Amino acid sequence: MKKLVRGLEEFKQKYVAEHQQLFEELSHGQKPRVLFISCSDSRVDPNLITQTDVGELFVIRNAGNIVPPYGAANGGEGSTIEYALQALKIEQIVVCGHSHCGAMKGLLQLNKLQADMPLVYDWLKHAESTRRLVAENYPHAQGEEQIEVLVAENVLVQIDNLKTYPVVRSRILQGKLQIYGWIYHIETGEVLAYDEQTRTYVPPQSQISATPSSSGSRLSTHAPPVACSIPSSRLWESGQVNQPWLRSQQIKIQPISALSRSELA
Ligand SMILES: [Zn+2]
Repeated sequence: MKKLVRGLEEFKQKYVAEHQQLFEELSHGQKPRVLFISCSDSRVDPNLITQTDVGELFVIRNAGNIVPPYGAANGGEGSTIEYALQALKIEQIVVCGHSHCGAMKGLLQLNKLQADMPLVYDWLKHAESTRRLVAENYPHAQGEEQIEVLVAENVLVQIDNLKTYPVVRSRILQGKLQIYGWIYHIETGEVLAYDEQTRTYVPPQSQISATPSSSGSRLSTHAPPVACSIPSSRLWESGQVNQPWLRSQQIKIQPISALSRSELA
């Protein structure tokens, strides 16, 4: 606690003093551009990994970067999502999983959790699709590989959950919302982003794209489940991407659930 109190003083004297104009502007209101949904894990810091400043990210953090489906829980997630899109007019959402996620490990030992941490057990029911999907479709994945697959699939499951919210569906159909699925890798600090075209996780730089509002057809059609553009180059397939955690599997992370994404949409 002493460290925290010292930090408060240092923050006020150094950071706030050096960014007076920013804090003056923020005192009149916030205009974050992105709703960032990530795990509570202390190793994942949204502002740090994206190098964004105070006021730029509207953040939801919980165990497992989980979004309970609309109406399934009376927690803060739903109201925060609604506020972000309706009041703050946010048009971009990032769901960010991470390597070595304790919540995903918890999915593999639910019986123990039920006894020891009943609230966590209840919470992880919102990731039951992730657990079952991986159990039934990745029978050979074990150990670290199994966790990696759980993390990758869970991001997509939670994006599906996001789309059960009326305000999310509405914004997508208006072409006013993009949803991105990311995985943050703790060891290297790298982020991979889910790419709808290749159904793999790729470097996010390849997804910097035109906004969906440039496509008028989105008003009358269902938007893709994850809004993103075709990568300018298939870095992954050309071997320019060298992810140790994926290389160990000799596979691209190509979530099986992605095969039926369009139907789920
Ligand atoms: Zn986690």
